[in-house]
Amino acid sequence: MNDFEMDETSETNGLPKSAAEPGHEGPFQTLDVAHIALESANIGIWIIDLATRAFLPSPRTKELFGYPPDNEMSFDAAMSKIPGKYKQKVAAAIENAFTKRGNFSIEFPITVFGNNKYKWLSILGGCSTDESTSYFSGVVLDITEQKNNELRKSKFIGMVSHELKTPLTALKAYIQMLNTWAIKQKDHFTIGALSKVEKQVKKMLNMINGLLNLSGAESGKIHLNKQDFLLNELISEVIEETQFITSSDNIIMIPGETVKVHADREKIEQVIINLLSNAAKYSDKNSPIEISCSLIENWVQVTIKDTGMGIEPENIEKLFDPHYRVERKETENIPGFGIGLYLCAEIIKRHKGKIWVESETGKGSKFMFTLPVS
Ligand code: ADP
Repeated sequence: MNDFEMDETSETNGLPKSAAEPGHEGPFQTLDVAHIALESANIGIWIIDLATRAFLPSPRTKELFGYPPDNEMSFDAAMSKIPGKYKQKVAAAIENAFTKRGNFSIEFPITVFGNNKYKWLSILGGCSTDESTSYFSGVVLDITEQKNNELRKSKFIGMVSHELKTPLTALKAYIQMLNTWAIKQKDHFTIGALSKVEKQVKKMLNMINGLLNLSGAESGKIHLNKQDFLLNELISEVIEETQFITSSDNIIMIPGETVKVHADREKIEQVIINLLSNAAKYSDKNSPIEISCSLIENWVQVTIKDTGMGIEPENIEKLFDPHYRVERKETENIPGFGIGLYLCAEIIKRHKGKIWVESETGKGSKFMFTLPVS
């Protein structure tokens, strides 16, 4: 099944009942002015009666889902327009908001113009309860244009980073050649200067690789170039590289079994560099950072442990979201874009592995990921 094919078999698991049952037009009549304003702004509204679970979409909501505004549209009919992969996410988000009586906001594509064309909708909703009524309601917006712009932006970032990477890779090779020559000449000044140039070039290459992966992740296309390799060997290389870039020598590898994996070496390298750099960035300089690699049945688990500032429980959930950064006094002056962990999560997901974190504020964090063993 491709990304946007529909899964006709899936059900809405006890979610709202069919919409326009007689007697359920009430809420729209009482909200006339707001309703008219929203419909003029091309924003659809919908209401679910929490007691009966009856679903009442406005005419604009029906149109946004590709149905005639005057016809009935049941909750299931709306859901049937959402491609399989997203349908479960939307149903889970609604069910979660239902049970927790909370808010939700979700973006998803719908198939409207035939098999290959789709548009993007955003739904925001929440519960409103007073003495007499109890409704779950919200709005629907067409965000196709915004999504297309995001896609154009990602493509542009991808193209520019790809172009920037080529000359930098050549520069790195020349630095290494010059370094070999300087060592032969015993020219200590040049050796020192080249080491600084190399550090900056490596930092730039890491950033560019991050941007390349970001553009891939945003357009849903992280291409994997898989090969067999020893994970322990890669970890040792990355430790050396990260210590060089972050000018620290406090990263310790806990010895473990030698593990062979079948994965994209460059992308897993990016994941480990990101996690180790974060461990260094969000800890006191020279506080210890441990990395270990252990076999658990058919999986290998990599653990990166620091004794830094830690993360509050309420932030843990959002940590792997794109552009999410924890806003607190201690992180104010630490630079970053909030894309590192999002990329790690996307790369690990593409490898069918898992990534998660355990943390205690003020004591430190433990980031873990798994990969299937070769
Ligand atoms: P960035 O570091 O560029 O902000 P990331 O996506 O790598 O972006 O991390 C997201 C947020 O998670 C960071 O802003 C930081 O607040 C928090 N974080 C990540 N790693 C750690 C860590 N090891 N210890 C404490 N906080 C962390």
